[in-house]
Amino acid sequence: MKLYNFLHRKVEEFIPLKSPVGMYSCGPTTYDFVHIGNLRTFIFEDVLQRVLEANGLEVKRVMNITDIDDKIIKGAKDAGLPIEEFSKPYEKVFMEDLSKLNIKYANVYPKATEHIGHMIKYIEELIKKGLAYAREGSVYFDISESPGYGKLTGLENISLKEGTRISSDEYTKDDVQDFALWKSVESTEVGYDSPWGRGRPGWHIECSVMSQEYLGNTFDIHAGGVDLIFPHHENEIAQAEGKTGEKFVNFFVEGEHLLVDGAKMAKSKGNFYKLKDLEEKGIEPVVFRYLTLTAHYRDKLNFSWESLQGAHNALNNLREKIRGWNEEIGLSEQSNLGDNLFWQRFFESVNNDLNLPQAVAVLWEMVNSDTTTPGRSKVLLEMDKILGLNLDQYLGKTIEIPEGVQKLIGRREEARKTGNFKESDKLRHEIKKLGFEILDTESGPKIKKTNAS
Ligand SMILES: [Zn+2]
Repeated sequence: MKLYNFLHRKVEEFIPLKSPVGMYSCGPTTYDFVHIGNLRTFIFEDVLQRVLEANGLEVKRVMNITDIDDKIIKGAKDAGLPIEEFSKPYEKVFMEDLSKLNIKYANVYPKATEHIGHMIKYIEELIKKGLAYAREGSVYFDISESPGYGKLTGLENISLKEGTRISSDEYTKDDVQDFALWKSVESTEVGYDSPWGRGRPGWHIECSVMSQEYLGNTFDIHAGGVDLIFPHHENEIAQAEGKTGEKFVNFFVEGEHLLVDGAKMAKSKGNFYKLKDLEEKGIEPVVFRYLTLTAHYRDKLNFSWESLQGAHNALNNLREKIRGWNEEIGLSEQSNLGDNLFWQRFFESVNNDLNLPQAVAVLWEMVNSDTTTPGRSKVLLEMDKILGLNLDQYLGKTIEIPEGVQKLIGRREEARKTGNFKESDKLRHEIKKLGFEILDTESGPKIKKTNAS
């Protein structure tokens, strides 16, 4: 299996360090609902896990939950709620979003607030090694003492000015500065006692501490989004390798942005979407998952309502096609998965740095092929173990349509034939309320259950 390793900026053969494969991803900060750009990253990470598993590897996944930071503190204050009460609902919805998108849960979701003691110890060790210094109750990482700093981002050649001390945790892109490991706070603010006085941890330290705690000093894969490469991932490496003197991570795998109508998502632009916004428009979450699979994770994906509708139509077509497959699902003793040419090409595609667009194209080729591929149902289900589109709920399952619904469908066809589209829309709506959806296809109307079962 090959993966693009951001550390070396090239596609490399993935060779696991040990079993299970250790994989860490940066998780959400629970001050708001995650947006569909974040969700795209979480889907790509899920697909990566599934491809590793399809290669016979066991995976241990760790994803942190940042449940203490400036935005959370401000949000809680504005809402007049204790921190935990404020952030809990966002965490709950985050977990629900993952399951709606068929994203497998990580083995551990460590929370920053539950690892404060560990972070303090870690920072103390960095100070002991001369890699960090305390100033007025805060502690900073001294990047001039970190010779490898910049290796992920390619900033090695930038001269690091001594004494670029900063007092905030805010960065502008390409700012190379010492960063806060521990931030001093007033006694009235949310904080924790430490050897340097009352304060709270910086954001970068939590990922080094918690990833190494659950996966060891050196582990296989660190995944995230490209927006986290600098400074976040760069700083994680500096902290971790500074502390242990060992390599932190073998593969950094970074997913590209999702754009909305060609632009970066921003609350101010009104193009900031959450999964709930899609659901409110009657779009199943798994349709969004399908959409993300049609772009390579290292390419930007442009989201628009049209592209989402296109994904919806494609997925519905796929479902309708496989409903008609009624052969035996199991492969015979003689033929196994590896002999199937569609599977071979699909597997090659996903193993080639997760080329999902190509893999999905192979799936479509199989579905559209005139000849019945022996064992194609089995192959389809194996493909779906990686795609995660719930295809088992449609495969070979014809729909039983109640008489009442059939009558409404008949009336709607009549209305359509006579050009009474207002009536036909009304009937479509009535049919939908009964749990069925009409798809107008080239070969006439088709019916599907809206709550698949
Ligand atoms: Zn992180």
